[in-house]
Amino acid sequence: MFENRNKRTELSGLGEFGLIRHLTKDIHIKNSSTLKGVGDDAAVLDYQGRKILVSTDLLIEGIHFDLTYTPLKHLGYKAAVVNFSDIAAMNAFPEQLTLSIAVSNRFSLEALDEIYSGIYLACERYGVDFIGGDTSSSVTGLMMSLTVLGAASKADITYRDTARIGNLVCVSGDLGGAYMGLLLLEREKKVFKADPLVRPDLEGYDYILQRQLKPEARVDIIRKLRDLRIKPTAMIDISDGLASEILHICTGSKTGCSLYEEKIPMDPATMQTSYEMGIDPTVSALNGGEDYELLFTIDMKDYEKIKDDPDLSVIGHITDQSGGMNLITRSGGQVPLKAQGWDAFFERREEKGERRKEK
Ligand code: ADP
Ligand code: MG
Repeated sequence: MFENRNKRTELSGLGEFGLIRHLTKDIHIKNSSTLKGVGDDAAVLDYQGRKILVSTDLLIEGIHFDLTYTPLKHLGYKAAVVNFSDIAAMNAFPEQLTLSIAVSNRFSLEALDEIYSGIYLACERYGVDFIGGDTSSSVTGLMMSLTVLGAASKADITYRDTARIGNLVCVSGDLGGAYMGLLLLEREKKVFKADPLVRPDLEGYDYILQRQLKPEARVDIIRKLRDLRIKPTAMIDISDGLASEILHICTGSKTGCSLYEEKIPMDPATMQTSYEMGIDPTVSALNGGEDYELLFTIDMKDYEKIKDDPDLSVIGHITDQSGGMNLITRSGGQVPLKAQGWDAFFERREEKGERRKEK
């Protein structure tokens, strides 16, 4: 992961301006909306009448990320991409990014370079201009605050609270993988802490590890929907798990929903690891989080356009608010969806005498 594994340049040797110059020397502006990026008191943007979208994230070491198993380049990449995902969830494309960072002297210049290489890689892949930030020292940990900007016409912007009764509920990609990746990394961390001589056993778990450590923002889905001339009626990105996100859409839209357990897309690798960990795969998808897929609702008339797309799944429909928000289980039972519904989900299954197939 580290390109200069043996080299360690102290940050104190560069000074703040030297450091900023070093970190930003290779930036090339890609978007016509960026008139001025790094280098003055403020960046200057020109969105030419489009509406501006802004989203910001604060990431604290030990709270939002764990450097014992997160490579710094991945940390930078993921930090950028999850912000891009917020703009995609508004049915738009990210165009600019800022990063403010506080580091202690634990971190060398090479370590910062790794973080920035991940950030720049994400910006390159997603066509985003890196336009500035702020730099500070911190007492011990690493802190990052990212702000992403994008723009869209008023008509294109898609909110969470505008789903309508009869709409179909759709999700991109597959769910639960990122959470399985996290559990696996946590498990190996515990093993390593107990006995540092034991090598981590991560063989064969590539998919879920990639889902956790290197997620992608589904701007490709935004492009696809645009090509298909579909404007979702409501949309959100899945950062906290399917259950939590559909609740946001339904409570915001004053509707209910029925989701079908059998329709929830899951990768075989995710299901396999779920079974290994003794977790119902559906629970991983509902409550896992960090998948950064898009959850959206569409008008029934658009069904034909997406029904054969392997990357999109119709998982249910929007109902009247009085019907509540429900998961229809494989055996036809009905479970109310809750944001952190681990226990509720299991209890209801037992009540109904449903058996987890894998056990
Ligand atoms: P000020 O003192 O006005 O806050 P700074 O010296 O912090 O100015 O920033 C000067 C320029 O460098 C600005 O364009 C700012 O956006 C950019 N910059 C500062 N820190 C970073 C950083 N960590 N990454 C990228 N750009 C940065
Ligand atoms: Mg500053």
